[in-house]
Amino acid sequence: MAVYHGPRCRLCRREGQKLMLKGDRCKSEKCAMERRPFPPGMRSVKRRRSTSEYNTQLREKQKLRRIYGIMERQFRLYFQRAAQSKGVTGERLLQMLEMRFDNVIYRLGFAPSRSSARQLVLNNHFRINGKKINIPSYQLNEGDVVAVTEKSKNLETLHSTLKAAREIPEWLLVDKAKLTGTVVRTPDRSFMPANIQEHLVVELYSK
Ligand code: SF4
Repeated sequence: MAVYHGPRCRLCRREGQKLMLKGDRCKSEKCAMERRPFPPGMRSVKRRRSTSEYNTQLREKQKLRRIYGIMERQFRLYFQRAAQSKGVTGERLLQMLEMRFDNVIYRLGFAPSRSSARQLVLNNHFRINGKKINIPSYQLNEGDVVAVTEKSKNLETLHSTLKAAREIPEWLLVDKAKLTGTVVRTPDRSFMPANIQEHLVVELYSK
């Protein structure tokens, strides 16, 4: 699947919010949203954004897509699957995104950002239930155990990121000594990004 390779800070500036796409840099004063909190291509904050219903829904969808690093085509497939599954469509959509392999690696604290997590997965640094899997979009299930492969146990990035105090959500359990993580349960809405209004995404795709 294709991914966005352009400058990630532009995406935050475009959405007018910190989407936390670059790990530690996002918490520092180097963050582009601290220095230039206006959309790329504009010289100041003066130009007003469109507030039409369609634009509001579109921006919410783009924001969600960008947080998880997913291109339009794949995102639409997620929506279709969420709409066909049992439960509230918006929440199911967020659950599917949270249960992606790369997102779980990020949430477990093995990577500073979702894009780094994606690289680690692609480079075969993990196993799921003992099987080597290098597909960032792979959907995990309750009870799945992710483990760092033997050859990657000394990887500096893993240890430095794990050392940094980051809160691990309750639906996951990490064992820092063994370098493993378990999906304890499917996350509910309270563990998903609070700055997302998923109903707007559902409204957009339901037109
Ligand atoms: Fe967004 Fe992080 Fe760049 Fe700040 S540093 S603009 S939060 S990606």
